[in-house]
Amino acid sequence: MTFTPPNKAESVVDGDNSSTMLPSEVEKSPSVTNGGRPGLRALARRADPRRWELWTRPPRVIAFQLTCELVAAVCLGFGIVTSRDISDMDWLRFIALAGCATAHIQLTRQQEARRRSRLAAVHIDLTGMWIFPAALLLPIELALLLLALVRGQRWINSRRPPHRFLFTTMTLATSALLAQRLFSLLDPDRLTTIATRDPVASFGALAAAGLVYAGLQAAAIGGVLALGGIEHRTLKNVLGSKTDNLLEAATVGMGIVTAVLLLYIPPALSILVLVGVLGNRLAEISQLQEEADTDPKTGVLNMRGWTESAERAFQRASRSAQHIALIMLDLDYFKWINDTYGHPAGDDMLRAVAHMLRKATRPTDVVGRFGGEEFILLLPDTDVVAAEHAADRIRTAVAGLHTDTTGKHGAPTTISDRTTSVGVAVYPTHGDTLDDLLHAADAAVYEAKERGRNQVRLAAGPGKPSPA
Ligand code: GH3
Ligand code: MG
Ligand code: MG
Repeated sequence: MTFTPPNKAESVVDGDNSSTMLPSEVEKSPSVTNGGRPGLRALARRADPRRWELWTRPPRVIAFQLTCELVAAVCLGFGIVTSRDISDMDWLRFIALAGCATAHIQLTRQQEARRRSRLAAVHIDLTGMWIFPAALLLPIELALLLLALVRGQRWINSRRPPHRFLFTTMTLATSALLAQRLFSLLDPDRLTTIATRDPVASFGALAAAGLVYAGLQAAAIGGVLALGGIEHRTLKNVLGSKTDNLLEAATVGMGIVTAVLLLYIPPALSILVLVGVLGNRLAEISQLQEEADTDPKTGVLNMRGWTESAERAFQRASRSAQHIALIMLDLDYFKWINDTYGHPAGDDMLRAVAHMLRKATRPTDVVGRFGGEEFILLLPDTDVVAAEHAADRIRTAVAGLHTDTTGKHGAPTTISDRTTSVGVAVYPTHGDTLDDLLHAADAAVYEAKERGRNQVRLAAGPGKPSPA
């Protein structure tokens, strides 16, 4: 189960808004301001439970997270007490899985480092393909030992906020335990009689265990996100995109293949290490595709991504003869902010505006950064009256923004009372193509500037005089 970090603006507000999930794991860089490795002292400070970022979360998130951890601890204690004895064969299998998982993790270390240096990167971890088979075949102590080994190596690689790391680890451990108990109920011989068993029944038992394994993680981590772990709570952000879920299903599937090979052709596990490394590469490509469409500074779409999404929305609207509105805004006297407070403060203001725009719009609206201090929105199914209303709402929201930042000499400061000039163009009134609308809205922005800024202007329609 995965989720796509909404954007960098939100990561500024909520620097720790995701957790790890296996089979696929998604996380955002722990700190958007620190792309490099934190120093030892910073790490020690972060590990101190009194300083955990968790305590700044909404109380319902804290309660949910602590309750889950308590339930997990009880379940795991019970699981360990009632576990079967460990045989020599169990140890051998554990060593095989631990070796493969370690090779997989070490061969994907560079990728992990790249993820850390990226802003708002989605991270997909495929090590579930080793942990899930351990849960199916090994006593729970060994499955937990493997989990600790995998998580320990990941921790060294990409030190995450401890409370998030703990929650994810507890969730994974409990998922492994429940999947194991269900599987041994459905297939008490744990695949050892696979040749004589009904293959459909065998697959059914494995699939059911996989569903429990992935489903519990989705519920726990999705629960934290849905309760307020992230700002932009869309279904996609809470439950993951289609690609994320496909990857997750593939990881559980790979875990099943691992289990069968571990029992019958253990040396063939080496092939799966290669498949795992390749899987990580493919996951990275999908992240890169997403990043290519995103403005790294603000987290909203860049012009490339915006144009792609806007063209699609525009085609849909024109096919169904719907109105569609384009709103362009240019922040007033933005250069003054840079001159007065410095460029980093200007950047904070841009992020705050982008964040506000995402919050103030519907999930179907397309929000992008046109360039510099200009933003652009496409609002499907919005006529002239509604568009002007929306544009004025945005103008007012910019005026009401209070952006906490630091001034030129590092002193905390708040930027407020800034204004914006807004241009509005609507299909089909002001043009038949997206390009027409862009030009019309751009001209309207200039008109707003000329008329004194801090106002909304409607574009002039083709052949129509400019509205007074
Ligand atoms: P106007 O009301 O006419 O729009 O005035 P303005 O100062 O906003 O317009 P102008 O085009 O003169 O200046 C735009 C400024 O935006 C200048 C540029 O340095 C700043 N800017 C553009 N991109 C960024 C950015 O990414 N970060 C920061 N901090 N400033 C930026
Ligand atoms: Mg400008
Ligand atoms: Mg400007």
